[in-house]
Amino acid sequence: MARDLIVSNRLPVTVDLDGDDVELRPSSGGLASALAGVHARGESLWLGWPGDLGRASAAARAHAADALHTRRLVPIELSASEVSRYYDGLANGVLWPLFHYLTDVVRRDPGRDWAVYREVNERFAAQIAATWRPGDRIWIHDYHLMLVPGLVRRRLPGAAIGFFLHIPFPAAEVFRILPWREELLRGVLGADLVGLHTADYAHQVRYAATQLVGAEELGDELTYEDRRVRVGAYPIGIDAHHHASQADAPEVIGQASEWKASARVERVVLGVDRLDYTKGLPRRLLSFERLLERWPAWRERVQLVQLAVPTRERSAEYDTFRRDVNELVGRINGRFGTPVWTPIQFMYRSVSATELAALYRAADVMLVTPLRDGMNLVAKEYCASRTDEHGVLVLSELAGAAAELREALLVNPYDVDGTAGAIRRALEMSAPEQQARMTALRGTVFRNDVRAWAGRFLDDLDAAHAAAPVIASGASTPLDAALAVLRAAPRRALLLDYDGTLVSFASMPELAFPDEELRALLRALGTAGHTEVHLVSGRSRASLDAWFGDLPIGLCAEHGYWLRPPGGVWEAVADASPDSLAVAQVAMTRASARTPGSFIETKGSSLAWHYRMVEPRLAARRAAELRQQLSASLPPSLALLDGAKVIEVRMRGVDKGGAVRRILGEGAADRAVLIAGDDRTDEDMFAAAPPGAITLRVGAGASGAAYRVDGPDDVRALLRGLR
Ligand code: UDP
Repeated sequence: MARDLIVSNRLPVTVDLDGDDVELRPSSGGLASALAGVHARGESLWLGWPGDLGRASAAARAHAADALHTRRLVPIELSASEVSRYYDGLANGVLWPLFHYLTDVVRRDPGRDWAVYREVNERFAAQIAATWRPGDRIWIHDYHLMLVPGLVRRRLPGAAIGFFLHIPFPAAEVFRILPWREELLRGVLGADLVGLHTADYAHQVRYAATQLVGAEELGDELTYEDRRVRVGAYPIGIDAHHHASQADAPEVIGQASEWKASARVERVVLGVDRLDYTKGLPRRLLSFERLLERWPAWRERVQLVQLAVPTRERSAEYDTFRRDVNELVGRINGRFGTPVWTPIQFMYRSVSATELAALYRAADVMLVTPLRDGMNLVAKEYCASRTDEHGVLVLSELAGAAAELREALLVNPYDVDGTAGAIRRALEMSAPEQQARMTALRGTVFRNDVRAWAGRFLDDLDAAHAAAPVIASGASTPLDAALAVLRAAPRRALLLDYDGTLVSFASMPELAFPDEELRALLRALGTAGHTEVHLVSGRSRASLDAWFGDLPIGLCAEHGYWLRPPGGVWEAVADASPDSLAVAQVAMTRASARTPGSFIETKGSSLAWHYRMVEPRLAARRAAELRQQLSASLPPSLALLDGAKVIEVRMRGVDKGGAVRRILGEGAADRAVLIAGDDRTDEDMFAAAPPGAITLRVGAGASGAAYRVDGPDDVRALLRGLR
């Protein structure tokens, strides 16, 4: 039976050791409770870190393994130093602050942490691949594991892989600060479906992918290495019914009214947060202070109850932050407190679920004012708990929840005065207005609850995976066997594309000139009597002549328009009339003038407009315009060709397929043939290949070739093996 493999940094339980005894304690956090429902359906495995088992005895280990196995949990163990580098150092010390736009908190030199992050991600990927069975869906979670989708894709090209990021994804200009931005993005893009909490975060992922790794964006989808990746918004929900029924439990109601009475104020204002620097506590406290300054009538009539849940206590950043908050609370209480009234009641600890429900019930105003927050579940829990449909939510517009909870009082958490004003408005809001807003908020929270969230993501993962084109070319027999045939053949012909196949792309075509090693290799192959070498290129005749004219090899320029057999002279396959390119020349000149970084390459029989160095969004727009213009105005004798970051106009009916047929002639049967190429124009060669030819695609992408290698280095190694 097909299963769901849920993958997160932590398992939903943490193993606690007591001698040889083992206890499984539920892990805290929104992710664990959100996915509990999916896991409870019984057709899933959950892979993740079980907590520190470093000091466990053999017996304790065996107990832990049993206990985890019964719950369908697959442990991935991490050493203490791995946790400190991968988790504390890179995930929480770099990605967490950066993705929340707090660039000054990002650790300064985390190179070693990055290396361990990568290693741990590799370990997760290996465990997933070892656990996976055909048909299983893989759902990978959060910023600790951003490389895992790509690493799994490499091992399991056909698997259905989803990735969900539970924190914000920042603007590309912030994300690009990371030295490993491309690798992280490539990792994420290994998934079929990438989910985020808001449409804005999803947009940022797509934009960063176009800017940084050359992906192309079309609606909600990216095309990346000829795979399609859907990137969309899936705002996470809570178990709203559970929170509502908990809030209505008699002991919760009792505790809430007891607390309210003992506070001896007209209004209780509540904050509930992990004590994290993203949650905006200092500015929230200043806003409360501003309220008391500007509207003194509220003194002794309102109290702020702030629950600060301990978090990441090992880390220095959090230690400093805690001291700052404590100091601020002390200062404000010292300034405004009276013998009968403490303005801020500060609690640094966690509370039980019933206590939390009672706090929600007792709070007239809920302050959720993070500087940035992926979603913020506290905001939703407060609404779900208000079965009386009263209470006012003051919500940061920089929390993901603000995209859904529009009826809250939305504030900019950086605006202390504005937030103070919103708190006052909340304190004075009429009962009918409270009810109208809260009813609408609750509707949203109940409609998009946690079940709806998981269902929507998994349905879309199925759809995205079904729509993903299967990469056609996968070697059915190992390339080595084919090469052995080639090596043993008495006569052989090698038809090789140049750019992207024998050399890597450079920013300017002139810079991708052949190195001496390549020339020597081609010379050696060409002089071995039984081997014919032909370069089949889109380059101009002049370029090929300058670079390879002296070698004993065949040359084919301008996609098959010009041919020069080994030791022979250049011949054109048809009469070109250069005049007919004039219309293309005008359009391309205009496009170049308006598009910084683009330029025109003039070949004898064709014109090419290159845009490899153009900013991707501008490039996409200008390329579309040029394409449209050309297809409307070209004479019938000319055809439009879309290459790798190049638009080319050339003679219709001339392509590399024709070149293959001309070079091999009728007598292909007497030679073993190798054809290698890397882009769309080379697919014409593969299509024209005679039976038995070895067709080789260089790099990723759908292809009609039978074999595939990664890049020019592999092609050269292969050619050296033929010498
Ligand atoms: N919470 C908790 N213990 C407490 C107080 C709160 O486990 O003592 C829970 C709270 O109910 C909520 C979660 O912690 O589900 C906080 O999630 P949120 O999305 O608001 O912020 P995060 O901590 O994930 O950044």
